[in-house]
Amino acid sequence: MAEPAGVMQRLLEELTRLPGIGPKSAERIAHFLLSGDRHHAIGLADALRAVAEKIRPCRECFNLTDRDLCPVCADPKRDAGVICVVETPRDVTAFERAGSFRGLYHVLGGRLAPLDGVGPERLTLGALAQRTRRGGVREVILATSPTLEGDGTALFASNLLAGTGVSVTRLARGLPSGASLELANAQMLADALEGRRTF
Ligand SMILES: [Zn+2]
Repeated sequence: MAEPAGVMQRLLEELTRLPGIGPKSAERIAHFLLSGDRHHAIGLADALRAVAEKIRPCRECFNLTDRDLCPVCADPKRDAGVICVVETPRDVTAFERAGSFRGLYHVLGGRLAPLDGVGPERLTLGALAQRTRRGGVREVILATSPTLEGDGTALFASNLLAGTGVSVTRLARGLPSGASLELANAQMLADALEGRRTF
């Protein structure tokens, strides 16, 4: 068995890996979890294990879900003719929170970054092309971030979808350049969707 100091140290190390948690916050959380009865600590450990084991990419759109199909893809009321292409599952959350989009999503899993070695094969671009060619899709909205890499990814995707007969559009520039979608408020996202233009 590890030394008490050893297990505590391991907890602190794991906590400081979390975004926004520095050494002081990590200590505060660790002491909170270990104070009094331990049901918070056990509950947190169970929840972490459950998400780590059960959450996976949706078979259709690659959004994170604990099912085969995510709730958006499984919803028959959504418009399957429009696919909004985003970089991460957090972007899906931003759009869903804004509530103005009724189509389906496609999560790329990042954006092209040739300098960092992220080529097309690292993203779900092939699956996007397959989905689009399968039929029933009228429009693909490229909602990658308004950054150099986001624009490059959108351009690559639009070339990939050229000749499919599907309308390819890009979000309007209502979003501050360089900003991520998750920081945009509901109105900004609605405006960007409304003002989208043909690629
Ligand atoms: Zn899905």
